[in-house]
Amino acid sequence: MEDVEKVKAEALQMMGVFQVLPRLVVFDLDYTLWPFYCECRSKRDTPSLYPHVKGIMYALKGEGIDVAIASKSPTPDIATTFLDKLSISSMFVTKEIFYSWQNKTDHFQKIHSSTGVPFKSMLFFDDDDNNIQGVSKMGVTSILVRNGVNLGVYKEGLTKFSLKWDASKDKQGRRK
Ligand SMILES: [Mg+2]
Repeated sequence: MEDVEKVKAEALQMMGVFQVLPRLVVFDLDYTLWPFYCECRSKRDTPSLYPHVKGIMYALKGEGIDVAIASKSPTPDIATTFLDKLSISSMFVTKEIFYSWQNKTDHFQKIHSSTGVPFKSMLFFDDDDNNIQGVSKMGVTSILVRNGVNLGVYKEGLTKFSLKWDASKDKQGRRK
């Protein structure tokens, strides 16, 4: 098992390098935080996360950065049961888990309404390119995940966010 504290320390060190960080980090669930479709599982199962997820979550919390969920799972009851079982449910400022035929535009409108965070101050991770394309058009820095969230893809996200930030003149971000 991965050492959560070690991953957290590495993530915190990584975040220390950037001049600007997102105010809110949004995660998909299936094949982003955990390696399965929760609709194919039973509520009685014991779920597990990708190895680096908890460490990264704790680092975000340590830096005072909010986290949220945007999932199109058709079984929100199983998803929320799993989040509870994994003891990470209370870490999210908002959880938008509902099915949609489209990409996650509606999810992000709701997240924006409930948090007040501008789209350009958000960073988003998802394994579905359709969602990445749609949500990035809203101004959210969006990162395609191929093997779940890990330190590598997390660094890629922070880098892309800060480059985009530097390119824009409007500085409304969470400056350090
Ligand atoms: Mg997914």
